[in-house]
Amino acid sequence: MVHGQGGVRFQNWAKTYGSSPELYFQPATVDEVKEILALARQKNKKVKVVGGGHSPSDIACTDDFMVQMGKMNKILTVDKEKKQVTVEAGILLRDLNVELSKHGLALPILGAVSEVAAAGVIGTATHNTGIRHGILATQVVSLTLLTASGEILECSKSVNPDLYQAACVHLGCLGIILTVTFQCVPEFYLQETTFPSTLQEVLDNLDSHLKKSEYFRFLWFPHSENVSVIYQDHTNKPPSSSTTWFWDYAVGYYLLEFLLWISTFLPFLVPWINRFFFWLLFTSKVENVNVSYKIFNYECRFKQHVQDWAIPIEKTKEALLELKEVLENNPKVVAHYPVEVRFTREDDFLLSPCFQRDSCYLNIIMYRPYGKDVPHLDYWLAYEGIMKKFGGRPHWAKAHTCTRKDFERMYPSFQKFCSIREKLDPRGMFMNTYLEKVFY
Ligand SMILES: Cc1cc2nc3c(=O)[nH]c(=O)nc-3n(C[C@H](O)[C@H](O)[C@H](O)COP(=O)(O)OP(=O)(O)OC[C@H]3O[C@@H](n4cnc5c(N)ncnc54)[C@H](O)[C@@H]3O)c2cc1C
Repeated sequence: MVHGQGGVRFQNWAKTYGSSPELYFQPATVDEVKEILALARQKNKKVKVVGGGHSPSDIACTDDFMVQMGKMNKILTVDKEKKQVTVEAGILLRDLNVELSKHGLALPILGAVSEVAAAGVIGTATHNTGIRHGILATQVVSLTLLTASGEILECSKSVNPDLYQAACVHLGCLGIILTVTFQCVPEFYLQETTFPSTLQEVLDNLDSHLKKSEYFRFLWFPHSENVSVIYQDHTNKPPSSSTTWFWDYAVGYYLLEFLLWISTFLPFLVPWINRFFFWLLFTSKVENVNVSYKIFNYECRFKQHVQDWAIPIEKTKEALLELKEVLENNPKVVAHYPVEVRFTREDDFLLSPCFQRDSCYLNIIMYRPYGKDVPHLDYWLAYEGIMKKFGGRPHWAKAHTCTRKDFERMYPSFQKFCSIREKLDPRGMFMNTYLEKVFY
């Protein structure tokens, strides 16, 4: 008999959202997961699965049954010829990266952190950057799903293709993902080159930057013209990293947290802090070579509030310049650095923010120095207004104020996804407060 624990408090990584599930389960087998669903059906309870708990929103919260998939973390098969790996859906990418490396394989793209689960990252359309690369879910060859009724369904481009189009970006609302098969590539090394520039230069030469580097992104320092450009490209060079880089960053970040804390009392300091840290950490050219996952991932030191919308790539310049103008015209609205700008290839998943269009993601943040909340509502509203104006779609993992009406406008296939969801889960077993805003 699978055991559910009472009295567990769930909190997401940034400690910005949490809930107190009535029962908290950590199943180790498919039979145990089936038992949990049977109990939920019998007691008329909702069920929410959690992977790495990294989503900066309440998407993984519930007061009913929470299922933590950390014990379902095995690698099931590695097909060296096809370069495909099948894993249990609770595996953390951190562990998968290491295991793949032992087989001379790697995922072609990862997000900024790997303490996230296979089903969790695909479910919220996690992305990184590189216009030839899609969101992480585009690496999914097939997956299996346990539905509310207890049935196991498999889907891929050829088997149940409609379900595949929905389930690769599943929002946790179609059922419990049990296994995922990923398409890998031979293990590779990346050279990261970081160098300073200006917003005007980068926006004027966007196409050229996109062509020059496979995984191009840039950081804009709000309240200034400053930009840090980051190129990441395949290399045969041996691993190397600059110690200056390490010391600058480690010491710099302690100072940053302290200054940001001071700025919670004196907000007019924020533009100066942004400029000071650009000068301190980002004005020289830095090169760094390592195995791919160590370059894709970096240490996110601070808890933060975050928003990240995808807009059509051709709107990048207009949208960023408008955000800059809004900040210039409203000195009381302050924005922490950086605004991270990334680029992603279009795909065909029904609820992917990159559905049928190459996209630019604009990620804004407000840090929480020493866990302190920093006012950010005005910045958030101004940003959301601009994103909506330019046809944006919010990141599913990150908090937003959109509701079903907005999504119907944003996603041409929203209704198709809803029909699939309603068929698989007519009682709404996998709903929670976040999803009710999306679907009801
Ligand atoms: C420090 C940090 C850095 C980040 N960097 C990036 C980045 O570079 N790019 C980016 O796009 N995003 C980024 N994110 C967001 C992150 O990638 C997403 O929140 C991702 O979903 C986290 O995976 P997780 O396993 O923690 O998912 P969780 O937060 O645990 O869950 C996410 C969703 O998946 C569902 N779910 C999880 N497992 C299953 C399952 N087995 N079956 C069914 N549903 C399931 C949950 O119910 C929930 O709806 C970052 C977040 C943090 C905190």
